[in-house]
Amino acid sequence: MKCPYCGEDDTKVIDSRPADDNSSIRRRRQCERCGKRFTTYEKLETMPFMVIKKDRTREPYNRSKVEAGIVRSCHKRPVSTQQINAMLDEIENEIFNCEDKEVETTVIGELVMDKLKKLDEVAYVRFASVYREFKDVNTFMEELGKLLKK
Ligand SMILES: [Zn+2]
Repeated sequence: MKCPYCGEDDTKVIDSRPADDNSSIRRRRQCERCGKRFTTYEKLETMPFMVIKKDRTREPYNRSKVEAGIVRSCHKRPVSTQQINAMLDEIENEIFNCEDKEVETTVIGELVMDKLKKLDEVAYVRFASVYREFKDVNTFMEELGKLLKK
């Protein structure tokens, strides 16, 4: 944030609080060079976290979409809603930390598979079969074989 008095680039935030409209932040800043103080109103970051799909198009991340896929795989399996929620929290923690603010669906899919594998193997195979879009029985059996060998 440039100083309005001398144009210096380095200004220090001495106080921030939400502005009355709640969609921006009011900041008191002090210029590092001339020492003058001024107030800025900065818009809160509203860019949603984006997901990159297989065809390279993007859409905002949607927790319930990921959740739906997991719930479907866990149908009639001994996996609780609480466990599914915890899994989603872990996944979000991992992806939201990336600086690009976007992640490929494949990354999310792999994370889900990783976690399902530890939780319930049947749910894992179900999820993997939908997610990897197994084109034929052979690839599916291959995956299943890998799993059974462990
Ligand atoms: Zn200044």
